[in-house]
Amino acid sequence: MKQQVFGGEVAQSKRPARRVGEAMWRGFRGKCPHCGEGRLFRSFLKTVDACEKCGEEIHHHRADDLPAYLVIVVVGHIVVSAFMGIEAVTAWPGWLHLAIWVPVTILMSLLLIQPIKGAIVGLQWALYMHGFGGEHDVIESHPEI
Ligand SMILES: [Zn+2]
Repeated sequence: MKQQVFGGEVAQSKRPARRVGEAMWRGFRGKCPHCGEGRLFRSFLKTVDACEKCGEEIHHHRADDLPAYLVIVVVGHIVVSAFMGIEAVTAWPGWLHLAIWVPVTILMSLLLIQPIKGAIVGLQWALYMHGFGGEHDVIESHPEI
C-alpha cells in the first residue's frame, strides 16, 4: 500500500519496524545503525557515505545542529549543577572555579559530541527519516520575501 507523505513523496507504508534503542546505541558507539559492525565515522564528525560491512547508505542523514544542542543541554546541566553544589559548600575563589569548570566543559563536550551525533544518525535510520527509507528527502524551498 502506498501513502502520501509530507513533501509530496510517495512511500511504502508497510516497512519493517527498526529497533530505535538498538540503532541509537550502535550509533552512540560509532557503529553502523543497521549492522552494528561497520564504522559510522570517517573522521571526528564526518560520517561515512555507506557502511563498509553491509553497504547501508549513511550519507543522507541530517543530524545538523541537534547533536551540538544536546551536548550543550547535557554538559550544561552537569557542569552548572556541579559548580553550584561546590559553590554552596566551599569558599573557592573565582579563578579556581574557572580553572576547573572551563576545561571540564570543553573535555566533556569533545567526548560527547561524536557519540551523540552517532545516536542521532541511528535514530534517523531507525525512523526511516531523510532518505533512510529509500525515498528521496525533499528539501523545502522558501519563497523569496
Ligand atoms: Zn552496516
